[in-house]
Amino acid sequence: MLDLCLLGTGGMMPLPHRWLTSLMTRYNGSSLMIDCGEGTQIAVKEKGWSFKPIDIICFTHYHADHISGLPGILLTMGNAQRTEPLTVIGPKGLERVVSALRTIAPELPFSIEYLEMSEQEHIFDIKGYKITAFRVNHNIVCYGYSIEILRSGRFDVEKATSLQLPKNYWNRLQKGSAVEHEGKCYTPDMVMGKARRGIKLSYCTDSRPTPSIVAHAAGSDLFICEGMYAEKEKEEKAKQYKHMTFYEAATMARDAKVGELWLTHFSPSLLGGERYMGQVRKIFPKAYLGKDGKSVELDFADEAESRV
Ligand SMILES: [Zn+2]
Ligand SMILES: [Zn+2]
Repeated sequence: MLDLCLLGTGGMMPLPHRWLTSLMTRYNGSSLMIDCGEGTQIAVKEKGWSFKPIDIICFTHYHADHISGLPGILLTMGNAQRTEPLTVIGPKGLERVVSALRTIAPELPFSIEYLEMSEQEHIFDIKGYKITAFRVNHNIVCYGYSIEILRSGRFDVEKATSLQLPKNYWNRLQKGSAVEHEGKCYTPDMVMGKARRGIKLSYCTDSRPTPSIVAHAAGSDLFICEGMYAEKEKEEKAKQYKHMTFYEAATMARDAKVGELWLTHFSPSLLGGERYMGQVRKIFPKAYLGKDGKSVELDFADEAESRV
């Protein structure tokens, strides 16, 4: 089960009831965060989640509304007695940007590992999360992310029995290791069924729509995407500043055949977003307005239905 919370839904500046766009997920005791602008740590507190298990922080890009909250979060993680290393992922320049912010948070009880990106796509496997970062189209280098929890096939008792392999080896095969017994090698594929459908979440802000976003979001259970503007007359502004409208996000969600779309990164001028949703749902019916603190537990398909 992947537990996630959209901590904030604002773009550009935090507002009293709209923190800056950020996402936090929890899986198997490990937390991951994407972006942390000013005030994000207050949103984490409001949600009641803990800072200590944050193992990974991913950055989409280095505009202040996506990263300026980092020094405070690092200090709070330090105050929570974290000592395990933290992995940070972001576009090229990551270490320089984070080190500059660290001049006001120099002493931390944990180390930071940097994963800097410069290719069109990067894939990382950390703490059970498969993280795919992909370039998007903003006015500076920016990446979107897909977070997947993969799931192996079922252990096939009949197959294992027919191999006449003692039962005490089964567990190791099931966990993905090969074993040797009486001079023969046994590999997991000999006893495991086909890989089962896992959990997939995609996150994209700030960008114009691109075919690559659609390809990477394809088949996601949940697609969280910016909708900076809802008013039709702001389409030109979206193009000029390399952002997206509600309708563009919905079109991508439809094309990517995602389970659900949550809109986020709203312009500070956007009020009463709900009145535009009728139009948005004509393009993609399962589109919802993101709200600060909006959460869901995404389960493996055959375990339970997703709950919003
Ligand atoms: Zn932004
Ligand atoms: Zn930006």
